This record gives sequence, structure tokens and C-alpha cells, in this order.
Amino acid sequence: MARRTKIYEGKAKILYEGPEPGTIVQYFKDDATAFNAQKKDVIEGKGVLNNRLSEYFMTGLAQIGVPTHFIRRLNMREQLVRACEIVPLEVIVRNFAAGTMSKRLGIEEGTQLPRPIVEYCLKNDELGDPLVTEEHIAAFGWASQQDMDDILSLALRVNDYLSGLMYGVGIKLIDFKIEIGRVYENDYPRLIIADEISPDSCRLWDIATGQKLDKDVFRRDLGSLTDAYSEVARRLGVIPKTQVTKPTLIN
Ligand code: C5P
Repeated sequence: MARRTKIYEGKAKILYEGPEPGTIVQYFKDDATAFNAQKKDVIEGKGVLNNRLSEYFMTGLAQIGVPTHFIRRLNMREQLVRACEIVPLEVIVRNFAAGTMSKRLGIEEGTQLPRPIVEYCLKNDELGDPLVTEEHIAAFGWASQQDMDDILSLALRVNDYLSGLMYGVGIKLIDFKIEIGRVYENDYPRLIIADEISPDSCRLWDIATGQKLDKDVFRRDLGSLTDAYSEVARRLGVIPKTQVTKPTLIN
């Protein structure tokens, strides 16, 4: 059997050439990394949960008219997505202070922000994804003004959708990161949500208890990451609610 072609291997995912032109197979690994890969581990089942959760969020976004790269899930660890040019920015939306914003500005974690705040970081592992301003983005040509208008609108729509969804299952959406892809339709560029949306890229706190249900469990050694992600998946109905033991994870 012919081996498929690996396009790129990142910290949490591998991309392979897809079966048709313009498609990519996105494989979710169990690898967990934090602090720009200074902390590493393999968390059995994480990839399976993130594949399912990302499918769930991307499908929901498409249903409310937010374009994404997601085409369909292929199996437990893989999904078929549209090939796109990735805009070299990490787009972060924050509703409550946490993480680097709390550190940078001295605001206590959990403080509600006056309104959602959108931040941009340059995608560059060597530099540790530094925070950049729209001035940098325009001056260095990482995205056009039209792109930035569209990115802001996409980011806020994703925030509205995810916040509401999470609130409905007793979870506060503290912040999240998305990546944006550019596709061409009839030679016209269009921006879509790419990469993944999962508890790896969001901060999710239980409303009643404040318990963390996201990658901070791994970053800060707060317990079992798969238990936290399974809890999110169970509440959303992505895995059966009655399942009390860990899901059977098939590679
Ligand atoms: O670390 P920081 O507080 O800036 O992270 C803000 C949000 O963006 C968090 O939800 C975090 O999980 C996410 N993030 C990410 N990938 C990065 C940096 C941040 O998913 N490289």
C-alpha cells in the first residue's frame, strides 16, 4: 500500500496530504506540550477527545454561518479539512483575565474584562509567539486591513457561539485561541477558521466550582487532563453522559 505524504508535524497534530486536491488529513496526537514545548507528556486519549470536540465546535460554527476548514471526521483520530494558507497569527479572545494577560497586566485571574479583548500573537515558536500590535501586522504585511476586519469579526462570532454553548453546560469561557486560514473561491480570497478548537486552545472553568477543565490542568499539574476533557465532552453530549469510566479509546 502506498504510504501517504506527511506535510507537517506540529506539537499536537500531524497533517497528511488528503485524498482529493485541496484537502488535508489532520491527525490528532496524544502529545501534550506547554510553555513552548518545555513541558511535554503523552496523555492517552487526548487526541481522540480533541478530534471529537473540534469536530463538534467546527460543525456548530458552520451551522451558524461561520466558515471553517472542517469537512468531515474520518475516524477516531483524523478529520478531513480544507487546505488553506495559514495567516501567521494566533488570534486570542479573552472574556476574563487569565494566563499571560494576568501576568503582563497584573490583573487577578478570573476578573471579568469590561468587554471581550482580542489579541494577536505572531506564530513563531522560536520567538515564543510574541504579542504583536495591528501596527506590526500592517507594517510587516502579515495580514491586510481587510483581513484584520474579517479576523476580528470571525473571532467575535466564535466567542459569542462558544461562550453561549459553554454557559449552557455550566462552563465559563475564560479565553481561547484560534487560527485563521485563507482559501480562494473563484480566485477571491476568503478567511475561514482553521487548525482546531478544543480544550487545548481554550480556558474553560466550571461555573459552580471554578474547576479548570482545559490544558491548564496539564500546564499546572492539577490532575487528569483526560478526565477534564471528558467532562467537557460529556456535558456537551459529544460522549455519552452516562459513561462513568473512561471512553474506550481506539487508535
Ligand atoms: O497563555 P495565554 O494566556 O496567552 O493563552 C490565552 C489562550 O490562548 C489560552 O486559552 C491558551 O490555551 C490559548 N493558547 C493556545 N496556543 C498558544 C498560546 C495560547 O492555544 N500558543
